[in-house]
Amino acid sequence: MQIKGSIIAITGAGGGLGAAMARRLAGHGARLALIDFRLDTLEALQAELSLPTEDCLRVQCDVSNEDQVDQAFESIAKHFGGLDVLINNAGITRDALMLKFKDGQRQSRMSLEAWNAVINVNLTGVFLCGRAAAEQMAIAGNGGQIINISSVSRAGNMGQSNYSAAKAGVAAMTVAWSKEFVRYGIRANTISPGFIGTELVRSMKPEALAKMEAMIPAGRIGEPDEVAHTVQYLLENDYVNGRNIEIDGGLRL
Ligand code: NAP
Repeated sequence: MQIKGSIIAITGAGGGLGAAMARRLAGHGARLALIDFRLDTLEALQAELSLPTEDCLRVQCDVSNEDQVDQAFESIAKHFGGLDVLINNAGITRDALMLKFKDGQRQSRMSLEAWNAVINVNLTGVFLCGRAAAEQMAIAGNGGQIINISSVSRAGNMGQSNYSAAKAGVAAMTVAWSKEFVRYGIRANTISPGFIGTELVRSMKPEALAKMEAMIPAGRIGEPDEVAHTVQYLLENDYVNGRNIEIDGGLRL
């Protein structure tokens, strides 16, 4: 697939990794649909990218809301006259231990609210956006690709039962889509980043950051643009399908 002129939707585009993807893809001539909860961050991003309205649509949408998602992808296809790529990137964390005990007494446990919030956005949101995007791609009849952003935490990370379960589900769902959607010429792949230097990670206490970096064989956290570069590779290499690329500096959880 050629990136220049391709119509690419990115969820969570206002966040660290989504914005890095938008920057790299805009630099290669993509036409972008930027999807997020909040329009103000998307307005700032569009201004930074210097893309005209015909090449950049900002879409306010909660990816876990079925009606909003279906409407969002209909409006994207209408605006651009089709859709070539979806990057399912929106995600949240609500970390907590399953159970915390002290002196035989339960201090806390992961709440059902924290479980549902993460599953709704990180798993159901990917399902809803993937389904709506594939429908628009099938209607346009030009094939395409869906890239789902999982995480190395899908292996099972302490304090992240909700997040790990959702991200493992995303990786499995991608394989199912790579088989189901091939009849429409749509590829589906996963990217599983390790620790990447978005604002949240960079604002950690220096001691905590150093401890994290010591766990990574590469000796450093990754750059958002290194994840965006992986997106570029998946778009340009038409023979990669149903695969999960770990971009983690060699980290194993
Ligand atoms: P981020 O900076 O928090 O960006 C996520 C974006 O998604 C935010 O703009 C957020 O909006 C938006 N969002 C959250 N819930 C949404 C919803 N229901 N509907 C629409 N938009 C929603 O996160 P990031 O670090 O760029 O991460 C992007 C993806 O990479 C996530 O899936 C994350 O799990 C994955 N990942 C990140 C890392 C890392 O080290 N950064 C590592 C592995 C995997 P608000 O800010 O308004 O909530």
